[in-house]
Amino acid sequence: MGIDNIYQPIFGSKASKENVILKKIRKESLDSTLAYRLVKDQLINEGNARQNMATFCQTYMEPEATKLMSETFEKNAIDKTEYPSTAKIEQACIDIIGDLWNVPDGDKMIGTSTVGSSEACMLGGLAMKFKWREEAKIRGIDINKKKPNLVISSGYQVCWEKFCVYWDIEMRTVPMDQEHMSINTEKVLDYVDDYTIGIVGILGITYTGKYDNIKELDKKVDEFNKMNKRSLGIHVDGASGAMFAPFTSPELEWDFRLKNVVSINTSGHKYGLVYPGVGWIIWRDKKFLPEDLIFNVSYLGGEMPTMALNFSRSASQVIGQYYNFYRFGFNGYRDIHLRTRNVAKKISSAIEELGIFEIYNDGDNLPIVCYRLKPKVKVNWNLYDLADRLQMKGWQVPAYPLPEDLDKILIQRFVCRGDFGMNMASALIEDIKIAVAELNDANVSMHQKEKIHSHGFTH
Ligand SMILES: *Cc1c(COP(=O)(O)O)cnc(C)c1O
Repeated sequence: MGIDNIYQPIFGSKASKENVILKKIRKESLDSTLAYRLVKDQLINEGNARQNMATFCQTYMEPEATKLMSETFEKNAIDKTEYPSTAKIEQACIDIIGDLWNVPDGDKMIGTSTVGSSEACMLGGLAMKFKWREEAKIRGIDINKKKPNLVISSGYQVCWEKFCVYWDIEMRTVPMDQEHMSINTEKVLDYVDDYTIGIVGILGITYTGKYDNIKELDKKVDEFNKMNKRSLGIHVDGASGAMFAPFTSPELEWDFRLKNVVSINTSGHKYGLVYPGVGWIIWRDKKFLPEDLIFNVSYLGGEMPTMALNFSRSASQVIGQYYNFYRFGFNGYRDIHLRTRNVAKKISSAIEELGIFEIYNDGDNLPIVCYRLKPKVKVNWNLYDLADRLQMKGWQVPAYPLPEDLDKILIQRFVCRGDFGMNMASALIEDIKIAVAELNDANVSMHQKEKIHSHGFTH
């Protein structure tokens, strides 16, 4: 069925009278103009991504980047022989990122692009598991007696839970407390034993935006390794922070400058400023990536190692990443990120001025603002109500409980990104003030039992 006749408006067409969301494939074809309009319209009620304050993921790229990416959708990142220049661009991204992370020897490092940090974390975790097994055998440990374990703070992102479930590993979480709000380096070694495959440090706890103190963690691991003749390593989950800190706090030592940091991952689609679909992992030295995890694909008559979990996927995101590096340069990234931080600081101080909120992160570390209602403040509404109010103006702002041990505390979080300028921040602040004033005057009907809304903090 095409357009009924060329004079008929789209919204008078037969297709526009029918459901667009189907359970079975349509029988007949549809005109492409109609199909485009009707599918696009089906998405009309979704939030505006630019106003989505819940996500770290990039919501804007320049028209030139979008053009370049849409012109390269068909390139398959795994076909190194067919697309050798694309393969070079991927390697160039790895070289650039390795350099940003102060890798000591560029010839020894190895890395890959992935779909995102989740895939990269799986790879980092797997490499640690395989390495642990090799060494445990040499140390004479019965590897079947107990499950291997991974040590991480309770502020972990859900991908680590997946990693542990998929690969049968015990997750040992070091509880975050009010004082730390990141990994407690005094306690972390209490969780380590012969079956520990490694420790994960998080550069940018998803909940609060705080950086784990990786330098201190490295010191502890060093002492442990010396005492126990081990070579326990640290993987840094830098999904958001590893593309932020190198530009904004180059003096902060969290990366390959620390000798026990064996691998680092990041999401190109967070502060790498690319649309969703790209992540990276780098090992400081090939020796930390067991051979068993490396497969070869053909490349210009020879072979090239690959270690990603996925096979085919579009190379366009990798090309988008390279465009950004090439176009912005170090100073461009730095300026974008510093601007974003200033925006977060501005929002934070405006919220603090209202007097009823306690700030947990004011844009320091990651440019996110996160706060709770002060416990002594008597208001007849909670942060879920504020989230609902802000949604009326299009702002998507999550409210959620903190992780275990702090889970009685409900917080709200705004993630600031490069496309969120001072102008938009002013509009948001205005809307927050109006929302708070309206809530204070309103008869809010509280739910008898407030159910936990846990969405919104996992990305
Ligand atoms: C976002 C995030 C992830 C998952 O990253 P994706 O790129 O969405 O797969 C993992 N860890 C942390 C700390 C994150 O913030």
